[in-house]
Amino acid sequence: MDHNDSIPISDHSLHYRTCPLCEATCGLEVAVEDGKVARIRGDRDDVFSHGFICPKGSTLKQLHGDPDRLHSPLVKRDGRHVEVSWDEAFAEIERLLLPVIEEHGRESVAIYQGNPTVHNHALTIYGRALISALGTHNIYSAGTVDQMPRHASSGFLYGDPLAFPVPDIDRTDYLLMLGANPYESNGSLATAPDFPGRLQAIRQRGGRLVVVDPRRTKTAKAADEHLTIRPGSDAAWLAALAHVLFDGDLVDTGAAGEHLDGVDDVRRLVAPFTPEAVEHATWIAPEVTRRIARELAAAPTAAVYGRIGTNTVPFGTLASWLTDVVTILTGNLDRPGGMMWAHPAHLPPRRTGPGRGFVTGRRRTRVSGHPEVKGEFPVAALPEEIETPGPGQIRALVTVAGNPARSIPDSDRTEAALASLDVMVSVDPYLNETTRHADVILPPPSALSRSHYDLAFYGQAVRNIANYSPPVFDPHGPLEEDIIARLALVASGQGAGGDPHLIHDVMLDTVLQAAVKPGRPLEGADIADLRAQLSARSPADRTLEAMLRSGWAGDHFGATPGGLSMELLDANPHGIDLGPLTPQLPGLLRTTSGRIELAPTPLAEDVERLRVWLDDVPDRPVLVGRRHVRSNNSWMHNVDVLVKGRERCTLQVHPADAEAWGLIDGGQARITSAAGSIIAPVEVTDDIARSVVSLPHGWGHDAPGTRLNIAGRRPGVNSNVLTDGSIIDPLSGNAVLNGIPVEVTPVPASRAATTDMTSQRESETA
Ligand code: SF4
Repeated sequence: MDHNDSIPISDHSLHYRTCPLCEATCGLEVAVEDGKVARIRGDRDDVFSHGFICPKGSTLKQLHGDPDRLHSPLVKRDGRHVEVSWDEAFAEIERLLLPVIEEHGRESVAIYQGNPTVHNHALTIYGRALISALGTHNIYSAGTVDQMPRHASSGFLYGDPLAFPVPDIDRTDYLLMLGANPYESNGSLATAPDFPGRLQAIRQRGGRLVVVDPRRTKTAKAADEHLTIRPGSDAAWLAALAHVLFDGDLVDTGAAGEHLDGVDDVRRLVAPFTPEAVEHATWIAPEVTRRIARELAAAPTAAVYGRIGTNTVPFGTLASWLTDVVTILTGNLDRPGGMMWAHPAHLPPRRTGPGRGFVTGRRRTRVSGHPEVKGEFPVAALPEEIETPGPGQIRALVTVAGNPARSIPDSDRTEAALASLDVMVSVDPYLNETTRHADVILPPPSALSRSHYDLAFYGQAVRNIANYSPPVFDPHGPLEEDIIARLALVASGQGAGGDPHLIHDVMLDTVLQAAVKPGRPLEGADIADLRAQLSARSPADRTLEAMLRSGWAGDHFGATPGGLSMELLDANPHGIDLGPLTPQLPGLLRTTSGRIELAPTPLAEDVERLRVWLDDVPDRPVLVGRRHVRSNNSWMHNVDVLVKGRERCTLQVHPADAEAWGLIDGGQARITSAAGSIIAPVEVTDDIARSVVSLPHGWGHDAPGTRLNIAGRRPGVNSNVLTDGSIIDPLSGNAVLNGIPVEVTPVPASRAATTDMTSQRESETA
């Protein structure tokens, strides 16, 4: 069967849905003709994206019809993956997993949740059910190779690790952006479709955009000013900005100051970070640092926004904290044009008063003693937890929508660890570098065969939005929630033939029970009565419906006419705009004091580590990553229209470094770090600072046993062979993926000619 011919809900029709591929949440118009996707373009009537689309959005068509996408479960037999029925797959999981749990306990099982799980409301909701059924504390996710520092700093400051403020980009007069390249990434931890257009609008209305980055990125070229910074030094420079604000008597915390403790502590903490003291470490001249601080203080409104380049470094949590410190000291927190919080529609109304606060380290990893953060352990520690014998050794792993073999540090070690597991189960649409190690692979439906609602990203959007997308096609197999529910039943010992509705009922009732608690809009309502009023068709959608109808913007099951309901969402296929962001203090605060704690002890103590580093900054070439608009981590390299054309997995090198190191444009270079060595094609460009080289991540599709035919033809090289899992940001557990010390040497043309691949892992040629 040609799976692009799976049954459409209507043979000829137009469908409007939100793109699930990245955080921008663009609206798409999907035209179906003769039961197939005819074309996909931006939805001009989408209330948030107004027709914007990037090159990835239209490739939902190719992803839906990708012949390499799995449609039936695979089970590994005699070293080869073979198709089996769903019942056989779950029976196999039961046969393999339960003996491991019985013999070694539940802590011998780990779970890894990849980035796409947060782009999928069913996986977001049901992830909790699976973790609970597994009964393990060995929880890992892509969050610790990405944004965990932002969670940690928000947890410490505001008591809620999900409460990170976003730049009010549509109203700000001044945006200071560090380590972010939304012209390629389309934005992250700030959901704003057409991020580039919104940046241009700042300048068109007379505002100012300043980009701080070691690379002159596309975003930097579009800015008023680009400051070249040493990778990993953002925290030191932000501390210097704060120092100048105090030193120049420029501090004015504005309305947020009413809810703020710790300003004097911050004054003391940043005292050593004079612009002169950080110049050597940051490469930014003192007069520039002073000018930027004065500009921030003088701007009518300003936002300070840091992203991946500030997070995936040894001082990631300090940098996240200091972006908010500078925002707060200039009076720009929680006011229009500054840094604000979204209020996603599925959350209840805010309530003031003390919260439960935020603590880390309630548990530690067995081998290196890393503290948990937000209930997770650093994924960089996963390989050693699998490798190291003893009580609590991880022997079984469940991966959901993730490719840790390419996305976490120290890939060679990671792959060896995955290969050594007793049992591995993956929920994934592809047989890729990670799932090739799995005993059982459970493929979810395509993105066009499921409904969509951005539970996670409306919590970090620059406007409050609600937009529900029904499926375009009927699913060929079970929905994600049925897959996860059956997996949870097996893991909890209820058998491969258990009824997933047991889990569905638990998930729904958990939401309804919270909704009828004292102080909530549905206080005291009858749960059975509420359940009977739900209209959504699928189990995950019924839980979503309960969340939305009981949320602050909901219809409260009829009690608030005109509020959100499935009928209202269905009647508005281009989305519902709930308006610009509004001040959320003090109701958002969940610290035990009910106030913003600007200098919490863990952060204050870590400042000394930053100060010591200033005195001993290693002066070696370092590696940083980069994004391209046609790439999305590791998993869209099997789409021909996205990978064709010029080679993009190249090592960018400054011309002066190229000359000094004997490299030529188009030649090959060997890059060696403490963790490993690879060979990559060289791209000489003055868009990168001296002593910095750059490789994109997510490549390296040359592993045997995968089924990625297009990606395999243009494999690229895996930058995570070079990253070192032993180096993490201690406060968040986030891996250090930027600023990796490396040595770069030329590879003689004669040697490069011995391979027909454009890039190759050195470890495989040695
Ligand atoms: S920017 Fe992101 S959400 Fe928008 S079309 Fe591209 S991949 Fe989809």
